[in-house]
Amino acid sequence: MRIPRQIVDEIVAHSLEDAPNECCGLLGGRDGETRTLHRARNEFESPLRYNVHPLDLLRITTEIEEAGEELAGIYHSHTRSEAYPSQTDVNLAENWPDPLYLICSLAEPEAPSVRAFTIRDRRVEEVELDVDER
Ligand SMILES: [Zn+2]
Repeated sequence: MRIPRQIVDEIVAHSLEDAPNECCGLLGGRDGETRTLHRARNEFESPLRYNVHPLDLLRITTEIEEAGEELAGIYHSHTRSEAYPSQTDVNLAENWPDPLYLICSLAEPEAPSVRAFTIRDRRVEEVELDVDER
């Protein structure tokens, strides 16, 4: 998936701001390209798990639709573990197999990393992010 550098940087910034809790948000896009980032509240306000707050989910998915985009991805942070889906993340994705799952790890504070995955039928596959440096 193509994604502007600016949006990757924004995911990292949001992760740092909400640490030690996990942050989360949604990405809108079109034609395999991410175009917009929408911050959401983590319903759990927890350092160990996240759920996009239901009110934010409704508001943001409406915004994305009205902009003529699709829900391209869901991002959240791992403040201490690597950027790989946890068992909790895999369970959460069960009802929502379409979007890409982006995870920002702050495990190495000086070098945050963002990786992307599909999670379908409990199978995790990494997807390469094509970062647009413009
Ligand atoms: Zn997670």
